[in-house]
Amino acid sequence: MKAYADFIELVKEYYDVSSVEMLLDWDQETYMPPEGVKDRSLQLATLSKVAHEMLTSDRMASLIKELGTAAVHDALTTEQQANVRRAEWEYHRAAAIPSSFVKEMAKKKSEAFHQWTKSRAKSDFASFAPYLFKLVEMKKQEAEYIGYEDRPYDALLDGYERGLKVSKLEPLFSELANGLSSMVGRIRDSGTEPDTSFITCGYPIEDQKKFCRRLTDFISFNYERGRMDEAPHPFTAGTLHDTRITVRYYPEDPRPAFFSALHEGGHALYEQGFIEEHYGTPMGQAVSLGIHESQSRLVENIIGRSLPFWKHWYPALADTFPKQLEGRSVEEWYAAVNDVRPSLIRVESDEVTYNLHIIIRFELEDAIFSGKLDPKDAPQAWDEHMEKYLGVKVPDSANGILQDIHWSQAYFGYFPTYTLGNLYSAQFYDTMKKDMPDMDQQLERGEFAPTLQWLRDNIHKKGGMYEAEELVEEVTGEPPSHEPFMAYLENKFGGLYGI
Ligand code: ZN
Repeated sequence: MKAYADFIELVKEYYDVSSVEMLLDWDQETYMPPEGVKDRSLQLATLSKVAHEMLTSDRMASLIKELGTAAVHDALTTEQQANVRRAEWEYHRAAAIPSSFVKEMAKKKSEAFHQWTKSRAKSDFASFAPYLFKLVEMKKQEAEYIGYEDRPYDALLDGYERGLKVSKLEPLFSELANGLSSMVGRIRDSGTEPDTSFITCGYPIEDQKKFCRRLTDFISFNYERGRMDEAPHPFTAGTLHDTRITVRYYPEDPRPAFFSALHEGGHALYEQGFIEEHYGTPMGQAVSLGIHESQSRLVENIIGRSLPFWKHWYPALADTFPKQLEGRSVEEWYAAVNDVRPSLIRVESDEVTYNLHIIIRFELEDAIFSGKLDPKDAPQAWDEHMEKYLGVKVPDSANGILQDIHWSQAYFGYFPTYTLGNLYSAQFYDTMKKDMPDMDQQLERGEFAPTLQWLRDNIHKKGGMYEAEELVEEVTGEPPSHEPFMAYLENKFGGLYGI
């Protein structure tokens, strides 16, 4: 069909420009010289304007309209319909916003990001505040442009996880928060504390790098179609044939490197697992950030922090780091990489406390966008929530409200997708275990291929065919829920802490 062919051509051109933006971002975070930022912020602002104009062009509008008419729509295959549906959603969100606003937002984000790095270094919220206020004001305006039924914040959530609303998250998160807080208390009261002294005693970075390469080879990250580099805040960027992952290394402790390699590796398996013929179209892209995160957390935590995984890998680890691990058993290593400890920093937190950090961000963002919290009072609100949920006293804003990059990038509504990813990962894992009852034995024998095949068949190859909730139901037979995740934690940490 001519209209569909023309539509796909435009969609693919838009994808080319967006993926170049992503590549420039990757370069900015890895190899770009510091002064390069002056040119790069201009390049990125122009590219975001160009991408926005491509997506909202009159030609795109008329093709989407034509493909949406009943007779034409019915003649499309299910996959073609999925492409039209997702492009239409993206089109409507973008078309609601004036191009000048998009460029202004890119400029303000760039300024806010630079101020944030300085303010965080000095732990000085006041110097970042005016930039944050401006971004909040603009995002409120953006929500008005896009429109919403209940709350302005819903319009922002929808940008990361289509159809997500506060009214869906609130019951899910409040039950989760109760369950997690109670588990944190029981772990604390158990008096059990794993020995982590041997894991923080110095691990040469060159050896950490080699081991990360082995771990990523094991999960079948394809280095012919990807790279692994170093970045202060690890992330994955890229396309089907060029997927870039980044890892960070600390000389004293190898955990951040190993688990960021597995985490980003999990994201990359998803990107590398899309079907070639759908390249550049929504069918060849992730469903949502939450589903993307489910793939990374499954590999990082459910598999990568499991005893079967380390029963296979521990001998090689002990060979690589004989001095550090002398006289230590795989069980001690397993306990140390699953140490539960309420702490200040989200990205360093364990599987039990992690989602409490996210729930705090969600509550603050929701309050800010519904006008209940003045952003100037956000640091105090953050500190109070940390004390309430985690019993942690926040010493300064660098270790509190300013720790995460997201607000400086105007990524309001992004945080909840991390927790959704964790919940989805546990639901997928339950189904996986039913389909492959000997999954633990396979991992212990060092076989990852069946696990990867399951992910390919059930998640990766489906690309953007479904929305997140639909995919979860399609794969697991159940709607998104916090229960499988809590059951997974109870089972794992019940064993580790005797609770
Ligand atoms: Zn991630």
